[in-house]
Amino acid sequence: MEGKQWVVIRCRACNNCHGSSGNYKRCPHCGNAIGEIAEIVSTVNSDAELRIEVAIANTPVELRDALRGKLKSTDTLVKNQDPQAFTMAKWVQQSADNNGEITLQSLSTLIASKNSDITAEDLISMAETQGMLLRIDENRWTLLE
Ligand SMILES: [Zn+2]
Repeated sequence: MEGKQWVVIRCRACNNCHGSSGNYKRCPHCGNAIGEIAEIVSTVNSDAELRIEVAIANTPVELRDALRGKLKSTDTLVKNQDPQAFTMAKWVQQSADNNGEITLQSLSTLIASKNSDITAEDLISMAETQGMLLRIDENRWTLLE
């Protein structure tokens, strides 16, 4: 991937932009041959950036800033996803009994065995927020997935 570049190309026939790694022949929007007459709008270094730049290039100028902000923040969210969150989701699943039900005690026991200092309450509220768990009783949750 290193050194690889992607370009955002504007088709002069239909004025739509699309992304390309360089081997472009035809506009995916109108089918016209692109070749030499294409206008290169920008050059980026990753396909993630490319998706953003293409979306932005196809958006009216007055809406671009808002869109750019939105796209970048989603992108950051995905990249920054806590690897711990995955582990914790696994713990929640592991502490469920055969009926897919979890209690504070079952989760606490599991957390203790992992030497983690997170509390069962915190883990449960995290799992609830993510839509993994549904409270079915005062001290009982059921797995939703
Ligand atoms: Zn076109």
